[in-house]
Amino acid sequence: MSKKILVVAGDGIGPEIVAEAMKVLDVLQSDGTLELSVENALIGGAAYDAAGDPLPQQTLDAAKASDAVLLGAVGGPQWESLPIAKRPEKGLLGLRAELGLFANLRPAILYPQLADASTLKPEIVSGLDILIVRELTGGIYFGQPRGVETLPSGERRGVNTLVYTESEVERICRVAFDIAMKRGKRVCSVDKANVLECTEMWREVAIRTVADYPEIELTHMYVDNAAMQLVRAPKQFDVMVTTNMFGDILSDCAAMLTGSIGMLPSASLNAAGQGMYEPIHGSAPDIAGRGVANPLATILSVAMMLRYSLDAPAAAERIEAAVSRVLDQGLRTADIMSAGMRQVGSSEMGDAVVAAL
Ligand code: NAD
Repeated sequence: MSKKILVVAGDGIGPEIVAEAMKVLDVLQSDGTLELSVENALIGGAAYDAAGDPLPQQTLDAAKASDAVLLGAVGGPQWESLPIAKRPEKGLLGLRAELGLFANLRPAILYPQLADASTLKPEIVSGLDILIVRELTGGIYFGQPRGVETLPSGERRGVNTLVYTESEVERICRVAFDIAMKRGKRVCSVDKANVLECTEMWREVAIRTVADYPEIELTHMYVDNAAMQLVRAPKQFDVMVTTNMFGDILSDCAAMLTGSIGMLPSASLNAAGQGMYEPIHGSAPDIAGRGVANPLATILSVAMMLRYSLDAPAAAERIEAAVSRVLDQGLRTADIMSAGMRQVGSSEMGDAVVAAL
C-alpha cells in the first residue's frame, strides 16, 4: 500500500541535504522497493517569508495526514530578530507538539571508517552503536508552575518543575524496550533517583514495565555517572532511556563521540507510530548555498523513516550499507575529511550513495 510522506526542507542547508535524500528515496521507488506519495511543504524561515507563519496551517494539516515527515533544518540569522512566536524554531517545536512526538530516538553510531573524526581515542569509540531514547514532550521543559516572579523583597525567583506521570514514563520505557528487543536487548535507564523523587518514580515504573520484557536486561544509572561513562567507556551502552532534559544533554554528548554532526540522524515518534525524521544538526547558515554540506545524516534519517514508520527494515539496511560502502570508497564531505581521502560536495556524495544502492 502506498505510504504518504511530507517533505519539509526548511532553511539554510535544509533544501540541499533533503535534495540528496530524495535521490535515495527516488531510487527505492523506481526499483519497486517502495510505493510512496510525496508532498512538499514549507516550514521555518522559508514559511515565515512566504506566509508570515513558521508553521502554516497547510503544513500542519499535511503533516497530520502523512505517515512520516522528513525534515531538513530550520533557522538562520535573518530571522533571529523576529518575535519568538514567529521564529523558525517555533515552527519545528510546534510541529513536534502538534504531532505528539513523545519519543526521540537518537543513535550515536561511529562508522569504523570515521574513527579518526572523534575527539576520543579510536579504540574507545570505533564501532560505537548507541541509541538514546529521550522523552520529548514532558518533564522539566513543559512542567508547571514555571516562570520568573519578583518577590516582595524585590529579588527575582525563577521556577521550573520536573513532572512526569506514570503513564508518560511507561510509554517511553516501552519504546526503549521494544527497540532494544531488535538490538542488543540491553537498556540503561538514566535518572537522578538519589535526589529527585520524580525520577525515583521513573525508576520504579521502568522496573515494573520491564516485567513484560523478560529478555531485556535493564540497568539504572544516575545521570552524572552516565555522562562520565559516555566519555569513559561508551561502548558499554546499547539503548539508553531517559527524561527530556537528561536526554537533551546526554544525546549531544553522545553525538560528539562520533565527531561528525553531519552523520547523525534522528527520529521522533508518536503513539500511532507516525514519525518525524531529521538530521540532528541545524541549518548551518555558514555553509548554506555552497553545496558542501554533508547529506549523510539526512540520508540516514530516511533509513530510520523506513525502519520505524514505513515498515521497510530491509530497505533501511540497504541505505545504511550503501553509506558504509561510500565511506569505504574514501569519499568524504569537508566536515569528515581526513588525510588520504577524496573530498566531495553534497551532490556527489548523494550520487555516490545512489550508485552504491
Ligand atoms: P548547526 O548544526 O547548524 O551548525 C553547527 C556547525 O556544524 C556549523 O559550523 C555547521 O557548518 C556545521 N554543520 C552542521 N550541519 C552540517 C552538515 N550537514 N555538513 C557539514 N557541516 C555541518 O548549529 P548552529 O550553527 O548552532 O545553528 C544554526 C541555525 O540552525 C540556528 O538558526 C539554529 O537555531 C538552527 N538549528 C536548527 C535545528 C533544527 O532544525 N533541528 C537544530 C539546531 C539548530
